[in-house]
Amino acid sequence: MTPVPARILRSAYDELVAQPNPVGLDDELFREIILDHYRHPRHRGLLEPADVATHGHNPLCGDEVDLSLRVQGDQLEAVGFEGQGCSISMAAASMMSEEISGKSLTNTKDLIRRFRSMLLEGQDPASLGDIGDLEALAGVRRYAARIKCAMLPWTALEAGLTQLEGANGRADTD
Ligand code: ZN
Repeated sequence: MTPVPARILRSAYDELVAQPNPVGLDDELFREIILDHYRHPRHRGLLEPADVATHGHNPLCGDEVDLSLRVQGDQLEAVGFEGQGCSISMAAASMMSEEISGKSLTNTKDLIRRFRSMLLEGQDPASLGDIGDLEALAGVRRYAARIKCAMLPWTALEAGLTQLEGANGRADTD
């Protein structure tokens, strides 16, 4: 992995901290978690072979994410992503990959539902059970323009799961 140039890191950081007294993002811990995933993305790199590969694009910000999944039975055995975009979208892809890796498809769908309710409906993360580092993205809700950045990998994931169900559905009828 090529190191992220300091200039870009600084602008990503500025982007997060420049907001006037942001509620949610003013928590130093959450900001550090987001930046850590951005600087040191987990599960970066596409899987080869993969059972499902999807692509997500956020035209509002220019973020791109490619997601690949390997499935064993009802379990997401491995997850990998590639992409380019803002700090929020890349951190979100890393956090999501870390959380869903090894999870059952049922639990993954449940996590999608919980993340969505946190980000889109303003559900208190504390009421959502353990969502790991994803909680750090709760503050993004304050910035309407950035919600799509944080949702991008999840949208790609949902498309992947739909593809997978389509493939299984066909296999069942064979
Ligand atoms: Zn973005």
